[in-house]
Amino acid sequence: GYGCAMCVLRCPTFGPRVSLTAKAGIVEITAEKGLPGFEAMSGSCKLDKKSLSPALVKNLEQAGVVVIPLPEAFHVYSNLAQKACQQYALPEFARNLILLDTGHAKLMAAYFPLDKLRTLKGFKEARYADPYAGGMGNSVRFMAMSPCDDSLLVTGTKNLFCAGEKTGLLVGHTEAIVTGFLAGHNAVRLLAGRELMVLPSELACGDIISYMHRQMKTPGGMGEKYTFSGSVYFRRMQETGLYLTDVAQIHQRVARVGLSGLFKLKLIHDPS
Ligand SMILES: Cc1cc2nc3c(=O)[nH]c(=O)nc-3n(C[C@H](O)[C@H](O)[C@H](O)COP(=O)(O)OP(=O)(O)OC[C@H]3O[C@@H](n4cnc5c(N)ncnc54)[C@H](O)[C@@H]3O)c2cc1C
Repeated sequence: GYGCAMCVLRCPTFGPRVSLTAKAGIVEITAEKGLPGFEAMSGSCKLDKKSLSPALVKNLEQAGVVVIPLPEAFHVYSNLAQKACQQYALPEFARNLILLDTGHAKLMAAYFPLDKLRTLKGFKEARYADPYAGGMGNSVRFMAMSPCDDSLLVTGTKNLFCAGEKTGLLVGHTEAIVTGFLAGHNAVRLLAGRELMVLPSELACGDIISYMHRQMKTPGGMGEKYTFSGSVYFRRMQETGLYLTDVAQIHQRVARVGLSGLFKLKLIHDPS
């Protein structure tokens, strides 16, 4: 994609992002003619709490969330479609300014023009903490994904594994952790001469990978984002019974497919 990824400015000073997959000679999945636009903008930004009025910060820290109805002239519904997190692409997020207390004040909008923001009560001195150039736009995501199979081996390579948003239209921290564990585990399996692991679809973390890859082969599926935390995949988890919150039941389900302690396995033994 465009803009380096090493700091919150994401400026083009050092050129575009460099992809190991592209360097390995593999053609990546990029936005092109014939596919719906899947590139997306980050759906939230951060305001420096010190720049907000003390009363607003007090409310935010007490409740964890503040919802401020916006004047109608500030409702911009077209921005919702650009969000990477489709679970927050709801009209309520256009009609209200929603702040979450994540340390900074997390503003649940891809961007909000600073001059307009400063007209709202409590925001007169507002400053962005991320992205610094807030008010004009946000980080652009999903510009280049690596073609890979469900073991996360990059297709066309023998030893390159990918994780997170490189594996496809997958959004979120938990999703990045799950795929990062699997990619790392499979890299070690490859070194140990073992067959690569594909997580089974009886587990949500296996199903999300295979479902996303299947969906990405359909034109409609390229217009979606896949995450445990909402939108199409959350509905699928509920419909298929994959959604569990009881930790003991989750342990049982993992045990049933014989994968308890998978990521604790020591596959290569230290000869010393
Ligand atoms: C503003 C914002 C808010 C979010 N809020 C949430 C949330 O509340 N909950 C949630 O679950 N998810 C959230 N997400 C999504 C989540 O952060 C991402 O889906 C997840 O971090 C993706 O993980 P990743 O490993 O694919 O990529 P990243 O976390 O982006 O990691 C990629 C890393 O690679 C580095 N890098 C890139 N190119 C190179 C190179 N050539 N050489 C070396 N290093 C390189 C980058 O600097 C970066 O550190 C949010 C994302 C954003 C941007």
